[in-house]
Amino acid sequence: MSTSTAPAPTAPTAPGAPSPASTPLDQIPREVERLRARFRSGVTRPLAWRLDALRRLRRLLEEREAEALAALRADLGKPTLEAYASEIGLCKAELDHTIKHLRAWARPEKVSTPLANQPAKSYVLREPRGVVLVIGPWNYPLQLVIAPLAAALAAGNTVLLKPSEVSAHTSALVARWFRDELSDVVAVVEGGVAETTALLEQRFDHIFFTGSLGVGKVVMAAAARHLTPVTLELGGKSPCIVDRDVDLDVAARRIAWGKWWNAGQTCVAPDYLLVQKDVEPRLLERLRATLEAFYGPDPKASADYGRIINERHHRRLVRLIADGAVVAGGQHDEADRYIAPTILRDPKLDAPVMQEEIFGPILPVLAWERPEDAIAFVNERPHPLALYVFSKDRAFSDRVLRETSSGGACVNDTIAHLSIPDLPFGGVGDSGFGAYHGRAGFEAFSHRKSVLDKATWIDPNLRYPPYGEGRLAWVKRLIG
Ligand code: NAD
Repeated sequence: MSTSTAPAPTAPTAPGAPSPASTPLDQIPREVERLRARFRSGVTRPLAWRLDALRRLRRLLEEREAEALAALRADLGKPTLEAYASEIGLCKAELDHTIKHLRAWARPEKVSTPLANQPAKSYVLREPRGVVLVIGPWNYPLQLVIAPLAAALAAGNTVLLKPSEVSAHTSALVARWFRDELSDVVAVVEGGVAETTALLEQRFDHIFFTGSLGVGKVVMAAAARHLTPVTLELGGKSPCIVDRDVDLDVAARRIAWGKWWNAGQTCVAPDYLLVQKDVEPRLLERLRATLEAFYGPDPKASADYGRIINERHHRRLVRLIADGAVVAGGQHDEADRYIAPTILRDPKLDAPVMQEEIFGPILPVLAWERPEDAIAFVNERPHPLALYVFSKDRAFSDRVLRETSSGGACVNDTIAHLSIPDLPFGGVGDSGFGAYHGRAGFEAFSHRKSVLDKATWIDPNLRYPPYGEGRLAWVKRLIG
């Protein structure tokens, strides 16, 4: 849609906040109708068309990489490597994997046919759902619209994208991109609550939402009015459990990397640490040393450390720092939207830092004595999107995996599980439901149509009335 009024990304240095663009509300029903007509034309169904669309999407990412990196830096001060790896590279890898396997995924899936229905074939067909809505958040503003888009196109749908208005530069970029490319099958609506509310009044065939629990409930309630299926990719507090028997150097590096990547604004970032009491002092010392090695003595001056998305989130996060004892970091500067990588000890359990998803560069640390205490701590809280366990003891990590529930998990790493295309990515309980990435994405945007395909050369009258004497015995013998 040609409705973006946001300025082009400014100098790729400091985060900026352009006024968010919005799409006129009366255009929304027309856009949905346009996508529906396009879907009904059948153009998106052939596999060759889908593969071509995926290749065009990949080319777009390649050709307009610099523009994307600039928008991401303007929105979030994203270091180039982080922006490339988690927004562009991840989507390209997802596209390559999908292009390679789509033919196999889309093949009719044969299943066996019991004797009572012979002679026949039974199989499952994947058909596109139709017109799908993808609503994105601001923290990975490109990846979290492009990866669902890739899966939706692979499945043969037309797609309406609603990027987050909070990351306004990237929203404007997405609107520009799809005015130039794939505009007959992809529409972009820009805006916030008013525009999303207007969108949710429309009938879609699937809604794929990434964002907060509260808005997820709004989306699901709106979808219920049309009985539209939803995928909810939500967040929550992802714990990281550190055992006594652990390689502390590796653990500190991998925890710090996953926590402070994108300045902690990652749905699967370790939200808090649960550390075995005897190793807590040494782990804290290693974490401090790691931060210095990663970002130097003053992380504010590091080109490799991002910024907070806006003032509202900056103020929210600064307030959280007071909920525990600062053992590293704690400095902040609202004008620069900077908050130092911060570690808190002994956070108050009833304070916001332990009650809400942190979604920023603050890491509370709590100590445990017995494994069952750490496990109980996790299980007393809503199911997280991710759980991390660091241990050299396989029995310990297996026990944690077995006795807790989370959307995904890593043993001896953080956040990297979402970059494995064959691992379905999604939540459980309060962290959402449904999943995508790789084949799971193709399945999320496909309907599985079950087909019984029967031969006509024979038609025994066993199942037809009049049933007569002795028929029941035959039926019992056939179907058990
Ligand atoms: P959000 O829920 O505030 O916004 C998400 C989208 O919903 C935006 O496009 C926004 O415009 C729209 N929206 C906001 N309020 C609305 C309303 N009242 N009615 C209709 N639409 C509305 O989330 P956010 O702040 O952009 O993102 C942060 C949350 O997203 C965190 O909880 C984080 O964990 C989660 N998240 C999850 C994943 C995942 O993959 N599971 C990834 C990134 C972020």
